[in-house]
Amino acid sequence: MAVAVDDEALLTEFYALADRCRQCFQCGQCTSGCPSARSLEEGPRRLIRLLLSYDVEAVMSSDDLWRCSECGKCTDACPMEVEPAKIIAELRALESKYGAQTCPERHAADVATRRLEKHDRIDNLAFGVTMASKGHLPKDVLGAAGAVAKIVGQSFAGKQAACAAEAGRTPASAAHAFYAGCSLPQDNAARKLTHEAAATLGLPLAEASGAPCCGHPSRGAVPTRFASDEPVLTACPACDAGLREAGIVTTPLWEALVDQAERDDRTLVAAGDAFVPYVGCLGERDTALAALEQAAALAGIRMERAYPSLHAACCGALGGMYRGESEGARRLLDFAVEKQAPVVTTCLLCRDNLRSAARRRHLPVQIHFWPEFFRAAGPADTPEGATDD
Ligand code: SF4
Ligand code: SF4
Repeated sequence: MAVAVDDEALLTEFYALADRCRQCFQCGQCTSGCPSARSLEEGPRRLIRLLLSYDVEAVMSSDDLWRCSECGKCTDACPMEVEPAKIIAELRALESKYGAQTCPERHAADVATRRLEKHDRIDNLAFGVTMASKGHLPKDVLGAAGAVAKIVGQSFAGKQAACAAEAGRTPASAAHAFYAGCSLPQDNAARKLTHEAAATLGLPLAEASGAPCCGHPSRGAVPTRFASDEPVLTACPACDAGLREAGIVTTPLWEALVDQAERDDRTLVAAGDAFVPYVGCLGERDTALAALEQAAALAGIRMERAYPSLHAACCGALGGMYRGESEGARRLLDFAVEKQAPVVTTCLLCRDNLRSAARRRHLPVQIHFWPEFFRAAGPADTPEGATDD
């Protein structure tokens, strides 16, 4: 059912939103700053323009309402304090209230929201099955099949519990509060490497067990039920943004680890002599890129960088669902092929989406989540004959 664009109540709320954008002078800085702009149909500038011209139909039928990842970069960039990200979120809420579009992102958010109203977390397997039953089939069948096999294998073997127990062996008093999110616990290998990297760099983690969904909008419209009085380390940019929105003090684990390594004068070991960084659209791009550059220096390797927005462009999963290769992902992967270097990302979901894109094009490029590429140097890495003094 589409939105009834002549609904009086809808129009009243729509005009009120337009009023809040009056000072927009169409400078376009919002769209320039949007890491997902190449994957949006209108982009924030034009969406605001359509809103100001009272084009209810165009605005309310735009899939951009569901493709926007609510990263907030457009709001940061706006010199007129228009807050396009907030306006888009409110338009999205209006659309939910007065009708329903058929775009996959919209369905994904609906399915996630319904699930989160009843349960603390989203079961990715059940989520995928529900989406498929609504006709939204995965764009990367091979990748989806692999992910399903992995999740099923881990669940049946009870390995998740074993891994959590393994990971949680650190004495609680020395450990730092860690919110693992929903993707890391579904990849035991990556989870184990994450805990190992943290422990060896002096930041052992106490993982919040069974933590509820982070409440990021890409996972539905239900605020998080997770609470913490102490600062929390996060492994996922969406979790970082979602928890911060709920007033929890968060620090991306990766950035904390690199800082720790530098403070302790540690070196890192890398699985190659160069890499192309990718930080996704939700993290603090400049800070995340700086941390990766710092890691490259600590490992004595090269970070191959083009221009900042390429390394934060949409990975192809706007709204939480992989929709196929985005323009940004295509350019990033081409750049990595040209540099003959793997991509190293600070977001596990982005890793999987970029792998899907690379697989579809048979590109000779590897994509790593950061602990798959970097680790702390140990005694075995000391060159023969070298001593501490
Ligand atoms: S940055 Fe602000 S003023 Fe400029 S086009 Fe976007 S919303 Fe309008
Ligand atoms: S919130 Fe982020 S993804 Fe959405 S329009 Fe603004 S910059 Fe683009």
